[in-house]
Amino acid sequence: MKYILLIPDGMADWEIKGKTPLEMADTPNMDYLANKGSCGIAKTVPDGFEPGSDVANLTILGVDVRKYYTGRGPIEALAMGVNGKIIFRCNLVYVKDGILVDYSGNRISDEEARKVINALNKEIKINFIKFYPGRSYRNLLVINADFDTKIKTTPPHDIQGEKIESYLPKNGELAELLLSLMEKSKKVVEGVTDKANMIWLWGGGKLVKFPNFRDKWGVNGFMISEVDLLEGIGKGLGFEIGKVDGLTGYIDTNYRGLAKAVLKGLKTHDFVVLHTEGIDEVSHEGDLDKKIEGISIYDEKIVGYLLDRIDVEETKIMLLPDHPTPVKVRTHVAEPVPFLLRGGSVKKDDVKIYSEKSCRRGRFGVVDGLKLMDFMFRL
Ligand SMILES: [Zn+2]
Repeated sequence: MKYILLIPDGMADWEIKGKTPLEMADTPNMDYLANKGSCGIAKTVPDGFEPGSDVANLTILGVDVRKYYTGRGPIEALAMGVNGKIIFRCNLVYVKDGILVDYSGNRISDEEARKVINALNKEIKINFIKFYPGRSYRNLLVINADFDTKIKTTPPHDIQGEKIESYLPKNGELAELLLSLMEKSKKVVEGVTDKANMIWLWGGGKLVKFPNFRDKWGVNGFMISEVDLLEGIGKGLGFEIGKVDGLTGYIDTNYRGLAKAVLKGLKTHDFVVLHTEGIDEVSHEGDLDKKIEGISIYDEKIVGYLLDRIDVEETKIMLLPDHPTPVKVRTHVAEPVPFLLRGGSVKKDDVKIYSEKSCRRGRFGVVDGLKLMDFMFRL
């Protein structure tokens, strides 16, 4: 038996005039799978967690975030192959008159950001800290020392246009260190670029080791994704990472390349995960038409393409978004998402189409997202 997990980021939504985008889109292939298999609703964001893609995807893959999630920084470190004790995300930001004007360093180029990071390493001489360049404004700070990591930091994208004062790192020794680094960074950053004028440290925690997926489920995994975050999760779980050219992370991405990578992954691995980003992006744009279009394209070019080419009797397929991104609010929400599972000994239920509403009547009912891999591999 082979296993495919399809995760169209942000696909679930709310009703707009009685129908959700998923119900408005043309989705014969997802409907076929829902009709032939069993459906349910999965809670992918545990209570008390922000509905981020990191938390939701980890939960889907059976990692209990209450035990293993320490922040965005450590997961990105996994993706970048960076090691250390404590990792923080280090944004390059622009602050004027005490107000956060731009969380992304005016989309600073990779090259310019790298110069800033090099300058920070050269001019801030503390032997247990090191900055690592990532992509554009998204860089990392590694702290190789023991600190209590229970501190409060704030994602800069949440406070754009606001006074930074009340959002600076708080609570204890580590917060003091971060504050002093942010203060020291001002002169250094300004000396290299005019796109940003300081660093902003957030989303940090101890680098944790996830349980190895193969040890737990007895399958070897293959991750295909358009974002570093999912690659980080994949690497952390011990998956091989597939590479695909021409990805845009948008609804015009290289679907053919992604679908082909799934088929290729299935030749060498038991379990292939495909995470795509485009539908989430157009949801953040609040563009209903593009969301409907994106879902229809996904159904045809990913789901349909795969169904035409895999041995459906020997393959188990699960499909669900990590979280809803309703176009009305243009951001992630923590509500549970519809899922379908087809193949193996999974019996058919009464659900005929794949949607937020229909899946509520499915055999599985409303389940904890941590159960999904059980359904996938043990049912
Ligand atoms: Zn999103």
